[in-house]
Amino acid sequence: MKTKDLFDKIVSLCKRRGFIFQSSEIYGGLNGCYDYGPLGVELLRNIKEAWWRDLTLREDIEGLDSSILMHPRVWEASGHVENFTDPMVDCKECKARFKADSLEDSECGNKAYKGRKAIKCFQEGKFTEARNFNLMFKTFIGPVEDSSSVVYLRPETAQGIYVNFTNVKDSMRQKIPFGIAQIGKAFRNEINTKNFLFRTREFEQMEMQYFINPAEDEKWFEYWKEQRFNWYLKYGMRKDKMRITVHEKLAHYAKSAIDIEYEFPFGWGEIEGIHNRTDFDLRRHFEFSGKKLEYFDEATKERYIPYVIETSAGASRGLMAFLMDAYYEEEVNNELRVVLKFHPAIAPIKAAVFPLVNRDNMPEVARNIIEDLKKHIRVFYDDSGAIGRRYRRQDECGTPYCITVDSDTLKDGTITIRERDSMLQERVNKDNLLNILKEKISF
Ligand code: ATP
Repeated sequence: MKTKDLFDKIVSLCKRRGFIFQSSEIYGGLNGCYDYGPLGVELLRNIKEAWWRDLTLREDIEGLDSSILMHPRVWEASGHVENFTDPMVDCKECKARFKADSLEDSECGNKAYKGRKAIKCFQEGKFTEARNFNLMFKTFIGPVEDSSSVVYLRPETAQGIYVNFTNVKDSMRQKIPFGIAQIGKAFRNEINTKNFLFRTREFEQMEMQYFINPAEDEKWFEYWKEQRFNWYLKYGMRKDKMRITVHEKLAHYAKSAIDIEYEFPFGWGEIEGIHNRTDFDLRRHFEFSGKKLEYFDEATKERYIPYVIETSAGASRGLMAFLMDAYYEEEVNNELRVVLKFHPAIAPIKAAVFPLVNRDNMPEVARNIIEDLKKHIRVFYDDSGAIGRRYRRQDECGTPYCITVDSDTLKDGTITIRERDSMLQERVNKDNLLNILKEKISF
């Protein structure tokens, strides 16, 4: 299948099945912003929950939820006011604005030249000189809109962690090495939003900053690189669709950096970055705030500014990778079956329950099963249409188990559990259902 077709099919499934909608769709949408529908929000929450549990259910990592608006000096200290820019050019003819380094990928803004690449207009001298454009969204705090009240919507969650280094260390009596994890929204006024959830203006990050002794930076960098790569495999991502690339050109704060990449239908793209940020951030905040952000090691009597190994994942970008990775089209009995093979831990709906027919007490028995299960997991009741169609609908939503109540259930209390990927059915006693699902889904 052509990759563009595959991409379009997944985007359309996302809308049809309630995963992702365009933001403010009835007004024509807002560029670079998306809404998570009923299934999308479950998927996103499950991904974030998996990350949160795996990172914070350990003694050396604490959680944090810092505010989105922060003191403007934070962004001066971090280098964002000065460096968080993209070079941009304007077309003098059609007035469209482009990222100067991606003219090959962009289309001319003039509708009359449909399909024409912006690089062509550049070669014809239609563009202004490149100017730096800061990607941070600005707003004002309080009632007066002047330069003294400017604040920014955070472009990353990391800075909220650095400025709370001492608070967390002291309140939790943490000793180095230790980490702080945070999940939250970040905002970037990207010039070119593209590829669905890949590059949006509002997105969610899952970031963990691990504070270490500078002498141990290489060891911890390797450790987190491996941990984070394996995390995606744990939740079912295909290894042959993943790779690690090493940054040749480093950001101003980094000593070493790698990207974990996923092969999307439009090509390879970063889903998470692992960076050795040295002591850059803590040192800068120390310089700008005058507050010492350092660590005293009681055992060795050493005093130092810790180095930081950062693991920075996009929750929304990760969601898109999990979605695209789970998408399969298969031929079953000469019919197309579209199935999302999510790992049960992240699947939005864990089980669907069907009465085979709407009579002979089957709906009542099925409803009782739903009542029992819904205290523990998200379940879905469906009694409409042929059973095959009901299976197909759940396949498209990625529901790992379908449970059917049939005439045997009424005789001997057994039901069938149909597994999504193999489509194999197993007959079990309905009283054991919860325990069986518990084991399969491990909740
Ligand atoms: P890119 O080079 O793709 O712009 P980046 O290197 O600027 O990404 P980081 O600043 O390292 O990205 O951000 C960490 C993670 O946040 C990325 O791996 C990605 O998953 C996510 N992310 C960054 N920008 C966006 C965006 N505009 N939309 C969605 N997710 C994003």
